[in-house]
Amino acid sequence: MTDAPNAQTLGANQAYCSSCGAVISNRAAACPKCGAPTGSRPEGVSPKSRLVAFLLCFFFGFLGIHRFYVGKIGTGILELVTIGGLGIWQIVDTILIILGEFTDKQGRKVTVWTD
Ligand SMILES: [Zn+2]
Repeated sequence: MTDAPNAQTLGANQAYCSSCGAVISNRAAACPKCGAPTGSRPEGVSPKSRLVAFLLCFFFGFLGIHRFYVGKIGTGILELVTIGGLGIWQIVDTILIILGEFTDKQGRKVTVWTD
């Protein structure tokens, strides 16, 4: 956060705890000092927001926008020119996102709703 109490320079593998401001390892899943989760993603989980993907797919899925968002440019263009597979592909993708089964370009599941 902006009000980190210590202004020392961070090392390459260090980060501030967003809760208490302590300098911690950026690989830590939780702050060892206050126990707050750091928000670092487990392996296989996309850094992309599920909420953004859902909204993009719900409103603009027929344009393939949600696929561009997660880096799937090829199938995004395909979905664009087929107008979301005449709507069917868009519906399927929307359901996949809701179920947490939608994946990004690297095959990581888009399961995190917000940052
Ligand atoms: Zn902390």
